[in-house]
Amino acid sequence: RTVYVNGEYLPETEAKVSIFDRGFLFADAVYEVTSVLDGKLIDFEGHAVRLERSLNELEMKSPCTKDELLEIHRKLVELNGIEEGLVYLQVSRGSDGDRDFVFPGEDTEPSLVLFTQNKPGLANSPAAQKGAKVISIEDIRWGRRDIKTVQLLYPSMGKMMAKKAGCDDAWMIQDGYVTEGTSNNAYYVKDGKIITRPLSNDILHGITRKAVLRLAEEAQMQIEERLFTIDEAKEADEAFTTSASAFVMPVVEIDGATLGDGTPGPIAKRLREIYLEESRNSAI
Ligand code: PLP
Repeated sequence: RTVYVNGEYLPETEAKVSIFDRGFLFADAVYEVTSVLDGKLIDFEGHAVRLERSLNELEMKSPCTKDELLEIHRKLVELNGIEEGLVYLQVSRGSDGDRDFVFPGEDTEPSLVLFTQNKPGLANSPAAQKGAKVISIEDIRWGRRDIKTVQLLYPSMGKMMAKKAGCDDAWMIQDGYVTEGTSNNAYYVKDGKIITRPLSNDILHGITRKAVLRLAEEAQMQIEERLFTIDEAKEADEAFTTSASAFVMPVVEIDGATLGDGTPGPIAKRLREIYLEESRNSAI
């Protein structure tokens, strides 16, 4: 695999970042994951805009222009022959060669790293045909989940808790209300209405969420953005999650309660189809 590190395209075994890099020592880094279908990037613009926002919120320098980022994404997709898969991008604050809680000086350059993940069958995934089983866990993450940082230890632990329970993912709960999945936004459907938590600092502003809500509206579906409990979701007709890496993923079980007949619901399936079609058509 050819990867990108600070201006260079290299074999992955030759790519290097300093052990003093603040991404490594302090999780002082932000990231984006952009999906690739038919060898093209899905919603690159949305990811580039969110990256800029994450960088601004953390007063981190932008490593390059949006056009340069697009060029790097495209070149890696081409060099690695990716038809379906993901491009992972990470910007960390870099380092001035020591470990210090205080941010390094203005002249410290951020580190930019990108790599691809080949995922044939991403769009036609058997997991989406089956639907996901989720458990609920307490949300003990920090308060700025709107910034896409690499502090992913707790979401990673949540995923492991789900796995140990024989499930696929965990939905997190704060003050009695569902925030989001470990790596996706969460929705349920009752009597034809789609319910999802409104945007705030409590959840990541999903790029897929934005696109799916727009498409749902265009398809005359009813949407309500409000707080909801896990008990409401357990009583739902259907549920689903959205993310750049899994698109629209139907959810068929929550904390052991089967939703509907235990197979992916019609609205989740329809939204997945519409989303994939629209994404392929607007990919660059
Ligand atoms: N919420 C969290 C916590 C995530 O980590 C992600 C994606 O990684 C999402 C939501 C979905 O965001 P997007 O649709 O931009 O991939």
